[in-house]
Amino acid sequence: MKIIAIGRNYVEHAKELNNPLPEEPVFFLKPDSALLPNRKPFFYPNFSSEIHYEVELVVKISRVGRHIEKRFAHRYYDEIGVGIDFTARDIQRQCKAKGLPWEKAKAFDASAPLGKFMTKNHFRDVQDIDFFLEKNDEIVQQGNSKNMIFSIDSIIEYLSQFFTLKMGDLIYTGTPQGVGQVAVGDNLRAGIGNKILLETPIR
Ligand code: ZN
Repeated sequence: MKIIAIGRNYVEHAKELNNPLPEEPVFFLKPDSALLPNRKPFFYPNFSSEIHYEVELVVKISRVGRHIEKRFAHRYYDEIGVGIDFTARDIQRQCKAKGLPWEKAKAFDASAPLGKFMTKNHFRDVQDIDFFLEKNDEIVQQGNSKNMIFSIDSIIEYLSQFFTLKMGDLIYTGTPQGVGQVAVGDNLRAGIGNKILLETPIR
């Protein structure tokens, strides 16, 4: 199983980090050891002092495919959920400045909390899904998949040129604006519509 995460997929988020808008999807990988199940605590790592939350819609691949055309991409996933792409922003800044890969800032243990999934038939249009993140009962991020720069189906088309997508692979589809820091003692909750699908306490 692999986790593929898309960077800079919402205009407002790219702006808040002063990043240029991408002309094609920007992506990176996280290993399976990055997964953190729902309700398990995230232990603040000692290598960073600036861990940021990024709430994202997560697409679970349901069949094997490569070179998938956009018009067939919808056949390759049945479930959508939410996850958090924890980012060591201080380390990411150092990586960016040196032109180095981002894995040290993005792929560490427990950097990918994953919530419960909803089947696709819950949604009239997968490109019109509201999702949110609460920190200590206060909404800190709100997004809608209609604001993605690259749609789920075009992401699948793009990624499958490079990787065989396999059943169970997860695509974190990018974060909307409002990213920010977490601190020990915080409690994060994320969901779709008004449903909470993920809870991650920070310890
Ligand atoms: Zn992200």
